[in-house]
Amino acid sequence: MNILLVGAGLSGAVIGRQLAEAGHQVTIFEARDHIAGNCHTERDADTGVMVHRYGPHIFHTDDAEVWGYVGKFARFLPYRNRVKTTVAGQVYSLPINLHTINQFFGTAMRPEEARRFIEDEKADTSITDPQSFEDQALRFVGRDLYEAFFRGYTRKQWGMEPSQLPASILKRLPLRFNYDDNYFAHRFQGMPEEGYSAMVAAMLAHEGITLHLNTPFKRGMAAGFDHLFYAGPLDGFFDNQLGRLGYRTLDFEEFRHDGDYQGCAVMNYGDEDVPHTRITEHKHFSPWEEHEGSVLYRETARAAGPDDIPYYPIRLLEEKALLSDYVELAQGCAGVTFVGRLGTYRYLDMDVTIREALDAAAHFLEHGTCPAFLTPPV
Ligand SMILES: Cc1cc2nc3c(=O)[nH]c(=O)nc-3n(C[C@H](O)[C@H](O)[C@H](O)COP(=O)(O)OP(=O)(O)OC[C@H]3O[C@@H](n4cnc5c(N)ncnc54)[C@H](O)[C@@H]3O)c2cc1C
Repeated sequence: MNILLVGAGLSGAVIGRQLAEAGHQVTIFEARDHIAGNCHTERDADTGVMVHRYGPHIFHTDDAEVWGYVGKFARFLPYRNRVKTTVAGQVYSLPINLHTINQFFGTAMRPEEARRFIEDEKADTSITDPQSFEDQALRFVGRDLYEAFFRGYTRKQWGMEPSQLPASILKRLPLRFNYDDNYFAHRFQGMPEEGYSAMVAAMLAHEGITLHLNTPFKRGMAAGFDHLFYAGPLDGFFDNQLGRLGYRTLDFEEFRHDGDYQGCAVMNYGDEDVPHTRITEHKHFSPWEEHEGSVLYRETARAAGPDDIPYYPIRLLEEKALLSDYVELAQGCAGVTFVGRLGTYRYLDMDVTIREALDAAAHFLEHGTCPAFLTPPV
């Protein structure tokens, strides 16, 4: 069959590869002048540093099949994400672990002592059913740690009070009573030696795939294809006819430094009087390389306007209502499957994106067609 894919990010590349290997003809339209979507990496011409153009990307998963799949297209080298945060003039380790707790309270507690201390003396146990991010934080870490490590950062990141955000956001940030400062708890973690764009290029290198860069898709362009997999924005597919789904966007202010600027890849800034949320020093993502010069991004979040890159879906009540209207419209479109982070209006890590892309391709290969959504977004 003749298959059209919109978007040459991970979703498009994986589906395209799977369908091309099964003998289908795949055409990909990509609006940008490069592949790999938001995972795009490129070497900085002056310093040679591998730069993550749309913000830091660390590959981590518990899915052995996905780990095996990416390993076919890139050599992954060991990488552990160890995030630091600067708060009130001190540097702490994240996620909150025994080192963070002992440093913050000026103590030398052992694991069980720290657990009892937080549970008995700090956590607000009067909150029995935490609904908001703030409730959740107060319930599990207490006011001191919440105000130092979560409140300011969250207000900057989401542009609203933590009491207005759902508790589910915090469920992803663990509290550890040991010295494990590995940010992600997954079994497999690493960084592609030559960056994500090289990995995606290897996925797209198949004779059954034709790629068109600088080609923004409009609905009329699907004519003549047997099926469309669409990884662009769900509301954009319908020309935003019901309104725009809300997103946060990010501004990356690039700056350079000779030598080592901050000694780690990611330094968060929890204080509210510091406007940026974090600084990324890209060369630390490739610890096996040596570079004298350094490229850094100072990252600030704000509400996305119509011309901004959509990064994080907001997904509060209002957006979910609009989303469900768009889902209904989408389900009325025959021969189109909405995939990926933009097509389903969800935050998806790379491994989940790949898992869903593999599943969508498998469904198509088995049934000769695919529904509007393989994973319903509401
Ligand atoms: C700041 C940030 C940090 C992240 N860090 C991590 C991390 O550390 N680890 C992790 O696992 N995941 C991370 N992610 C998630 C990761 O970026 C996604 O999992 C991944 O990008 C999803 O791939 P995708 O193909 O669905 O979407 P995208 O990468 O967004 O690709 C979609 C593509 O479609 C194109 N497109 C859109 N509309 C059109 C159109 N009309 N016509 C033609 N082309 C179009 C876009 O240009 C884009 O190239 C992070 C995300 C963000 C925002």
